[in-house]
Amino acid sequence: MALLPHYQTKKYLYDMFTEPQGPKERAGWIEAICGSMFSGKTEELIRRLKRAHIANRRVEIFKPRIDTRYHETNIVSHDANLIRSTPIDSSENILLLSQDIEVVGIDEAQFLDAELSIVAEKLAAKGIRVIVAGLDMDFEGKPFGPMPSILAIADYITKVHAICVKCGDVAHFSYRKSADKGKILLGEKDHYEPRCRSCFYKGENA
Ligand code: ZN
Repeated sequence: MALLPHYQTKKYLYDMFTEPQGPKERAGWIEAICGSMFSGKTEELIRRLKRAHIANRRVEIFKPRIDTRYHETNIVSHDANLIRSTPIDSSENILLLSQDIEVVGIDEAQFLDAELSIVAEKLAAKGIRVIVAGLDMDFEGKPFGPMPSILAIADYITKVHAICVKCGDVAHFSYRKSADKGKILLGEKDHYEPRCRSCFYKGENA
């Protein structure tokens, strides 16, 4: 029998899509969900967290306080599925606030500090399943905040894609329509649109 690469094995699918039961599966791990704006990162995070909740896992969700687009204490995805979440000022707070928690979800992780990957490692070492969702690139197409480090240390990575509003191709860039300076522009729908690589670099000529 040929040996399958890890990502095609049952163990991989078991880790990704089920909520482990029993002492053998108690080791923690890190899952990363990345992509551009409008790619469904938060929806995917919520889908996994809901399943963990149904499986009676103790779930806690964190997001940077800076992301105040929607309700203060809820993670809200664009299709209006929502789960309660705890706003935090630094990633260190996650360690303090996740006692007795089995699954930690982190949304909009690109806005958190560089300590996030160390925090995620510590959580996983304690047996916690850590699911980190965030933008992998900023509006200039550069790696965003702590996300590159998270992607490097994650056990599993899911890159979700949006659709390019210019040509209908698969998109993984967030194109900023506004002339406003600064990476952190909230109220995303007015200021950004998903674009494919080609249309992203064509800029206003796309
Ligand atoms: Zn395009």
